[in-house]
Amino acid sequence: MIYFVGAGSGAVDLITVRGRSLIERADVIVYAGSLVNPEHLTFAKPECDIHDSAKLSLEQVMEIMLPAAKAGKLVVRLHTGDPSIYGAIREQMDILDAEGVEYEVCPGVSSFCGAAAALKAEYTLPNVSQSVILTRMEGRTPVPERESIQSFAAHGATMVLFLSAGMLGELSRRLIEGGYTAETPAAIVYKATWPDEKIVRCTVGTLAERAREAGITKTALITVGGFLGTEYDRSKLYDPTFTHEFRTGTQA
Ligand code: SAH
Repeated sequence: MIYFVGAGSGAVDLITVRGRSLIERADVIVYAGSLVNPEHLTFAKPECDIHDSAKLSLEQVMEIMLPAAKAGKLVVRLHTGDPSIYGAIREQMDILDAEGVEYEVCPGVSSFCGAAAALKAEYTLPNVSQSVILTRMEGRTPVPERESIQSFAAHGATMVLFLSAGMLGELSRRLIEGGYTAETPAAIVYKATWPDEKIVRCTVGTLAERAREAGITKTALITVGGFLGTEYDRSKLYDPTFTHEFRTGTQA
C-alpha cells in the first residue's frame, strides 16, 4: 500500500494524526525534500528506508515505491502542504493504477491555510469576498489563457498566489490590469508556520518592492484582497436576531 501524505505547511506538529501514524509505521518514505520539514523523518522507524525526491525523476520515484509496495511494504510518499495543490500526485496515481498497486491520500494543512493562520485572517468575509481563488503565475508550467491573473483579478475576490514570489513586478501589473487598485491590501507570507516565517503587509502596487526589501524570492504565498482591510459585515450565523437550525433569534 502507498499513502500520499500531506506533511502540512511547515511546523512539524501541523500534520494530521493519521499522517504522523503513517510515518511511524512506514517501511519506505519518499519525501519532497525541498519543502517538507525534515523533522518529520525523526518519527520514522530506525530501519525505515528514506529517500529525498528533490533529486529524483518520476520514474526514479516509481522505481523505489513500486517494488516496495508490491512486496507488501508500507510506503509513504510525503508531500508538502496538501497533496492536491500543485502536488504532482495525479501522474503518480495513474502509474499505480496501471500497475494495480493500491494507494490512499491523507490530506494535509495546505500553505494557504498556514498563511491565513500566520496573518490571523479570514479569507471569506461577508460583504468583502465569499470566494478564494488559488492560482499561480505561469513558470515553466504554463497556465491556461482563460485562467489569466487579469481575468481572476476582475472578480475582486480573495486571491492566493502560489509559485509566484519571483515574479512580483509582473504579478502586480496583471492584478492592476485586471481590476484591483494599486492600493488594494496584499500580504507576502514567507515560510508560513516554519520557525523563520516572515509576514510582509503591503499593497498590490508595492509587492515587488517590499519583497525585495525583505529578501523574499521563494517559498512564499501572495495574498490579495479586501479581506486584509478593516471593513466587513458581521456574520448572519452569530447575529442575535438571526434564526437558524440550531438557534432561535431574538426580535430585532
Ligand atoms: N502542496 C503545497 C504547495 C506546493 S507548491 C501546499 O498545499 O501548500 C509550492 C509553493 O507553495 C511554493 O512556491 C510557495 O508558493 C507555496 N508554499 C509552500 N509552503 C509554503 C509555506 N510554508 N509558506 C508560504 N508558501 C508556501
